[in-house]
Amino acid sequence: VFANVVRAPEDPILGVTVAYNKDPSPVKLNLGVGAYRTEEGKPLVLNVVRKAEQLLVNDRSRVKEYLPIVGLADFNKLSAKLLLGADSPAIQGNLVTTVQCLSGTGSLRVGAEFLARNYHQRTIYIPNPTWGNHTKIFTLAGLNVKSYRYYDPVTRGLNIQGLLEDLGSAPSGAIVLLHACAHNPTGVDPTIQQWEQIRRLIRSKSLLPFFDSAYQGFASGSLDGDAQSVRMFVGDGGECFIAQSYAKNMGLYGERVGALSIVCRTADVASRVESQLKLVIRPMYSNPPIHGASIVATVLKDRNLFHEWTLELKAMADRIITMRQQLFDALRARGTPGDWSHIIKQIGMFTFTGLNSKQVTFMTKEYHIYMTSDGRISMAGLSSRTVPHLADAIHAAVTT
Ligand code: PMP
Repeated sequence: VFANVVRAPEDPILGVTVAYNKDPSPVKLNLGVGAYRTEEGKPLVLNVVRKAEQLLVNDRSRVKEYLPIVGLADFNKLSAKLLLGADSPAIQGNLVTTVQCLSGTGSLRVGAEFLARNYHQRTIYIPNPTWGNHTKIFTLAGLNVKSYRYYDPVTRGLNIQGLLEDLGSAPSGAIVLLHACAHNPTGVDPTIQQWEQIRRLIRSKSLLPFFDSAYQGFASGSLDGDAQSVRMFVGDGGECFIAQSYAKNMGLYGERVGALSIVCRTADVASRVESQLKLVIRPMYSNPPIHGASIVATVLKDRNLFHEWTLELKAMADRIITMRQQLFDALRARGTPGDWSHIIKQIGMFTFTGLNSKQVTFMTKEYHIYMTSDGRISMAGLSSRTVPHLADAIHAAVTT
C-alpha cells in the first residue's frame, strides 16, 4: 500500500550532517549544524550540567513519574525569570503563562498550534531569510506564512526600511516572528533604537510579536543583554509570545528542553490561555520529558551553579568571537578579494558569508567543507586548527 510513497529530500540543515558523515576524507569539516564544538572539535557537555546531573542522580527521592501536561513547575517559573528578568512586573502580576516544551522547535510549534485555534488572525510574517524550519512549523500548524524584508545583501546589514515598510503594510493583528538575538542565519540584529522603532510599529498596528529566543547568552555574552528586545515588548504591557531553547546556551541539544511563554494582559486571561495550551499539548505528546528540565531547574535555582553557567556560556561565546577574528585575519593574509568585515561584525553562532550555492558546492567537493547552500557557516564548529583550511577553501571559491 505504500509502494507509491515518494522519497522525501533530506532536511536542508540536518542533511548537511548526513552528507558529512558519508565523506571519508580526514580533513572534512562540518559547519552546517549550529552545534558548539571545542577547540579540539569535540561536542561539549558543560561542567554545570555534569554537576547538576550528579546532584539529580544522588537524590534518591527523585522518581520517574509523568510530569504535568505543562511540565516541571520550577523549570517554568525559572525560565520565565531568566527571560523577562527576576523583577518583571508581568511575572509578579501573574500575566505570564509558561509551559515546558520540546526545545525551541516544540515551543514554536505549540505556540503556533495555539494561535491557529485561538487567535483571529492566521497570517504570520517571518524574516527573509530565517531559520529554515520556521516556514514548515507555522505552515503545518495551519498558519499562512508571509515574509518581511530583513537582510540587505548589499550592505550585509539590516534592511530596516524594508522591514518597517513590510510590517507597516501587514494586516492588523498579523503575527510577527522576531529573533530575540543572534539572528539565524544572518548574524544581523537590530540595534536597540531599531528595536524601539519595530516595537512602536508593531504596537501601533496591533500586530502580535512572537519571539524565537534560541541563543540567549550567545550574542552580547550576557543573558540579560540578550533578553533586552523581549523585555522592551513585555515592558509596554502588550501581549507577547516567546519560544525559548536551552539547546545552545546550556548545550542540551538532545535533551529537547525549552519553554513557551505567553504574556497576557490580565492574570485571568493568562490562566485561560494555559488551559487551552494543555488542550494543544495533551494529544500531541501528552507531557514533556523530565530529565533536561530538571537539569535546567537545578542550575537556575542554585546561585553558584548559575554563576558558573554564565562563565561557561561566556567562554563559548568568546571562543566563537575568536574564531571570527582568526577567519577574518586568515582571509586578509591570503589577500582574498572582497570585504570580509561582516565576519567580525555579525553576531552569534553563524556567519552569513555571502558565498553562493555554486561556491558552497565547490568548497564541499574540493575541500570537504560542509555548510548550508545559503553560505551560512557555523562559527561554533571551527577551531584554530581548521581556520586555515576554511580560509584556503573560501579563497579558492572566490578566485577560481
Ligand atoms: N530557532 C532558531 C532560530 C534556531 O536556530 C534553532 C536551532 N537551530 C531553533 C529555533 C530550535 O532549536 P531546538 O529545537 O534544537 O531548540
